[in-house]
Amino acid sequence: MAGKELRFDNKVVVVTGAGGGLGKAYALFFASRGASVVVNDLGGSFKGEGASSKAADLVVKEIKAVGGKAVANYDSVENGDKIIDTAVKAFGTVHVLINNAGILRDISFKNMKDADWDLIMKVHVDGSYKCAKAAWPHFRKQKYGRIINTSSAAGLFGSFGQCNYSAAKLALVGFSETLAKEGAKYNIFCNAIAPVAASRMTQTVMPEEVLANLKPDWIVPIVAYLVHDSNQTENGGIFEAGAGHVAKLRWERSKGAVYKTDGTLTPGAVLKKWEQVTDYSAPSYPDGPADFMDLLEQSKSVGPNPQ
Ligand code: NAD
Repeated sequence: MAGKELRFDNKVVVVTGAGGGLGKAYALFFASRGASVVVNDLGGSFKGEGASSKAADLVVKEIKAVGGKAVANYDSVENGDKIIDTAVKAFGTVHVLINNAGILRDISFKNMKDADWDLIMKVHVDGSYKCAKAAWPHFRKQKYGRIINTSSAAGLFGSFGQCNYSAAKLALVGFSETLAKEGAKYNIFCNAIAPVAASRMTQTVMPEEVLANLKPDWIVPIVAYLVHDSNQTENGGIFEAGAGHVAKLRWERSKGAVYKTDGTLTPGAVLKKWEQVTDYSAPSYPDGPADFMDLLEQSKSVGPNPQ
């Protein structure tokens, strides 16, 4: 079914952290489907130490060896403008940004140093911001842009020993949701993914036999679909992918309790309706805050608060 392949001819794709792991899998795939790819990688350790041009160079070489189009960039994502400059200089613009670069500084909260916190924020949050910020004017001008931000189950659910990484990864969900809202009218889509895949990052935390069954290549298809022109609906979503499974996550709000907004709205009154507050039997799936005006109306007509 080659004719039905999702292709990326004439698209310029920037993949950060593309010297290994998931980023390399994305870069090879997009190049094999016709895209011009910027292979960015700082080439440091998984803890964010050191730098080398080797990782990005090898991926570019692999792409070119089979006739693909790619250039390397060795800047840290903290200098996202330089990465986007590389795309513009080599290929004229940027259409797709895959914010993928990442590192770990795992340590319990008790023992965490400011440097562990700061570096994780810099690479994941500042790095994604800087790359998106530099790509944004091009996206707006050409009325086309696609961004993937890389979140994590650690961010969505919490993970022992990773409070820095968890905070950064959930920050990227909020970032994506807002870029999706601001970008929609310019045909800029932004989604977040939470992948699980074998890489040097997960080597330290997962057993060998599990890793053998978590191929980075299995994350590529959902990412590729989300940034392809055939995706006309998914914007601002959160997707989990790994082990051959792809799923969408969303926020869930309980129906909740409505209280009278008078002097009787006390902690005790809240507690008396706790079952309603936490009852998920009639939920909603919001993409914004509750309708405060409607709730205020309901509050006027509700009976006295239980005491
Ligand atoms: P990886 O270590 O194999 O790849 C990350 C790449 O990013 C490396 O090549 C590294 O050199 C590069 N990099 C790091 N800091 C950089 C910087 N400042 N500037 C440019 N490049 C930099 O890890 P991976 O598993 O492929 O991770 C890719 C992304 O997926 C990361 O954001 C990670 O947090 C996220 N993630 C991975 C998993 C998983 O199961 N592998 C799970 C959840 C989230």
